[in-house]
Amino acid sequence: MTKKATPKKKAALTAHDHIHVTEDFGAHNYHPLPVVIAKGNGVWVTDVAGKKYMDMLAAYSAVNFGHCPRPIIAAAKKQLDRVTLTSRAFFNDQTGMFFKELCKLTGMECILPMNTGAEGVETAIKTARKWGYTKKKIPDGKAKIIVCSENFHGRTTTIISFSTDPSAKAGFGPYTPGFQVVPYGDAKALEAAIDDNTAAFLVEPIQGEAGIVVPPEGYLKEVRRICTKKNVLMIADEIQSGLGRTGYTFAIEHDGVKPDIMILGKAIGGGVMPLSCIATRKEIMEVIRPGEHGSTFGGNPLACAIGRKVIEILSTGKYQKNAKVMGDYLFKKVRAANLAPVKELRGRGLWMGIVIKDEFGKARPYCERLMAEGLLCKETHDQVIRLAPPLCITKKEIDWAVARLVKVLG
Ligand SMILES: *Cc1c(COP(=O)(O)O)cnc(C)c1O
Repeated sequence: MTKKATPKKKAALTAHDHIHVTEDFGAHNYHPLPVVIAKGNGVWVTDVAGKKYMDMLAAYSAVNFGHCPRPIIAAAKKQLDRVTLTSRAFFNDQTGMFFKELCKLTGMECILPMNTGAEGVETAIKTARKWGYTKKKIPDGKAKIIVCSENFHGRTTTIISFSTDPSAKAGFGPYTPGFQVVPYGDAKALEAAIDDNTAAFLVEPIQGEAGIVVPPEGYLKEVRRICTKKNVLMIADEIQSGLGRTGYTFAIEHDGVKPDIMILGKAIGGGVMPLSCIATRKEIMEVIRPGEHGSTFGGNPLACAIGRKVIEILSTGKYQKNAKVMGDYLFKKVRAANLAPVKELRGRGLWMGIVIKDEFGKARPYCERLMAEGLLCKETHDQVIRLAPPLCITKKEIDWAVARLVKVLG
C-alpha cells in the first residue's frame, strides 16, 4: 500500500517576516513601529505572536469606537449580504437615510459623500470655489482660500500645495495656486488676509498632525464673526477632531460656533470602511450640479450602512461623555505624575499631545519603549507623543496605560 505524502504544513510567518515583506514590496511612505497586528478588540490589539497591546493611537482617530465594535461589525455584515456598491448612477436604500441622519447629527441640511478625508477636503475646496464664483461673484479663476500654518488636510497635490510642512510638500510641485497661509490661532491675521476674492477659510478646530495644538480661547468664535462679516465661508476640518474625540460630537462645539461647511472622515467609517463627506447648507451645496463632482465608491451602501450605525452610536452621547470624563482623568493622572521629560501636555478630551523637552531627545524612542511595555502610540513631528485611545477606554485601562507612561517617562 502506498502511503499518501502528507502535505507539509507551512510554518506561520513571524513578525520579522511580515515586516520584511512589507518593507521589500511596499513603498516606504511610512515609518511604522515594529509591531505586526493580527487581531483587535476594543482598545486592545494582539500581534502575530499573541502578545497583547493597548492601542492608544486608534488609527489616528478612525477607530474611535474601538477595534471590531460589535454593533458596527454587525451592521457591516448585514449590509455585505445585501448590496455593497451601486454607484450613484442609481439610488439605493442606505445612502439617503445616511444623509438625513448625518444632517441631524451635524445640524446641517445637505451632505456630499466621498471616501477618504483628503477627498472630503477637496470637495470642500471645490464647493467653496464654485460658491465664490456663482454666489459671491468672484471673477473667474480668482477665488482665494485662506488656510493655517502647520495645517494638515491630506495628501493630494492640491492639498499639499498649501502645506507648510516641507516633508509633505517638497519635490511634489508644481503647486495648485489660490491659497494663502496665515498663522494658526491668529484671528487678526485672518482678517487682514481677507480680500474681495476670498471664498473661504479652512481650519482645524484643533490641529492634530501639528501635535494636538489647541488654539487660544475665543479664536474660533472670532473666526466665525470675521467670516460672517466678510461673507467668507468658514470650513471646519473635523476629520480627526470630530465624532466624540474631544468630549463633544464636534470639537468646534467647545467654542459654541457653527461652520458653513464641515468636513468629516476617519471615524465616520467606524474603523471599517473609508467614508468621508462634507456637510453644509442647501444654499451652498446647490452650486454643485450633476456631473461636476463625485466618486464611484462615494456614498456606497456598505459605507453608508456603517456610517448610519456610527451616527446611531453617537446619538446616545455615551462616547462623547466617556471621552470627556476619561480624558479629564487621563490629563489629571499624567499631570500628577510630574514626569521630567514632559515640557507640556496639550489637548482636549481623549486626545493628548505629550511634548518632550528637547534635552530629553525625540519622541520616537519613547514610543518604541512604550511599545515594548505593551502600549502603542505614535510620535507626531519630532517632539510630541500623541495619545488618542478608542473612546470606549475604561478607568482601569487608563490606570494601566499611565503606569506604563510613568515607567518609560519617569
Ligand atoms: C487624516 C486627516 C485628513 C486626511 O484624511 P485621509 O483619510 O488620510 O485622506 C484630513 N484632515 C485632517 C484634519 C486629518 O486628520
